[in-house]
Amino acid sequence: MNEDSALNILPEFSLRQLIQKIATNRIDDDDRSFYIANIGDVIYKVQRWMSLLPRVQPFYAVKCNNDINLLATLNALGVGFDAASKNEMEAIVKICAHSSKVIYANPCKQISHLKFTERHGIALMTFDNVSELHKIKRCYPEAKLLLRIKIDDFGTLYHLSEKYGVDIEDCPNQLQVARDLQLNVVGIGFHIGGGRYDGEIFASAIQLARKAFHYGKSIGYNFDILDIGGGFPGYADAKFETICAKIRQALDEYFPIEDQVKIMSEPGRYFAERAFHLVMDVIGKREINAKELTAQGEQKKYAYYVNESLHGSFGNVLHDFDNQSFLPVSKSLEGLFSSTVWGYSCSGLDYLLKECQLLEALVRISRYSIVLLMALANLLHTILSSYQFGRQLKKNYQNA
Ligand SMILES: *Cc1c(COP(=O)(O)O)cnc(C)c1O
Repeated sequence: MNEDSALNILPEFSLRQLIQKIATNRIDDDDRSFYIANIGDVIYKVQRWMSLLPRVQPFYAVKCNNDINLLATLNALGVGFDAASKNEMEAIVKICAHSSKVIYANPCKQISHLKFTERHGIALMTFDNVSELHKIKRCYPEAKLLLRIKIDDFGTLYHLSEKYGVDIEDCPNQLQVARDLQLNVVGIGFHIGGGRYDGEIFASAIQLARKAFHYGKSIGYNFDILDIGGGFPGYADAKFETICAKIRQALDEYFPIEDQVKIMSEPGRYFAERAFHLVMDVIGKREINAKELTAQGEQKKYAYYVNESLHGSFGNVLHDFDNQSFLPVSKSLEGLFSSTVWGYSCSGLDYLLKECQLLEALVRISRYSIVLLMALANLLHTILSSYQFGRQLKKNYQNA
């Protein structure tokens, strides 16, 4: 990724100039990292979605980034929301999104969260196992259910089919249990996983969903919702276009308009990843001495310490380092050096990048000295803050 791939919302500023302006206006007491959000890119993404997938109603996956401005913008533009926890749903309730614009897309729900959805009339939710059906029967029998099916996500960067989704052969069994419990199953959903960005995988998943619709019919259901999940790229405009063409084609074949099936989706990073940049300060710098150098012939090597952490915005680093890169914002010293970027906690596992080539950066000594930009796809950065325990974890590390 480079700076140019982010659209500029203020034509008179480059992203770099904007960051420098904000950074140098900070006082010494406020040296936290911060995000810059480009709402213009979010609006562009919504327009593009509407023109390329007019049949598919997007429900933004809040776990990707729960920034209130992002949520309010999407809500104003008619986008719905996919929430996976009570905290995420609370954020959506706060911006007054209509309950019909929310899906509780977590196949394994906590009872208190389920009761929260009932109180707020958020009826649409997913399931993929029989014990969930009994739980829903007890806590929210009027809920509208989507059965999440497992698809082959071989080749994707992160896999979800190991964690969620019912095998297609087990669909009739689960649907029969739902029928016996007199539950209201209204359709089928899937999630292709992430990072592959290939239209074929969507096409075959849509075909498989058609099969599940047939099973539903044979058991006495008349499904009218198909949820094609997330997994759309936020950076690669051309790839997105190709994927959309495949999806349109597969929908026309397996779910033609005459069937009157409502098509929805749960894009996360598509809306958020290019719009958000995280700006961090280099708060410490250590030159690694010659004895510590591993590779032969290396002249110098640096360790940097920044005001961010694996236990903060980088919670996803362990699993998913797609589209994340670091760019120095202010003038750096000359020369690329092998560098490691460490997080602020004292944990030895808390590093954000190892053995990368970075321009030599300075430490921030005053508000006029260097800041290091990390332009990142802030995938899952809110996952810690969207769960209670995560909040505590985060707080503990910040006090450490
Ligand atoms: C994470 C997630 C998404 C969003 O995935 P992206 O790849 O960011 O689009 C959508 N739906 C569900 C159920 C998820 O868990």
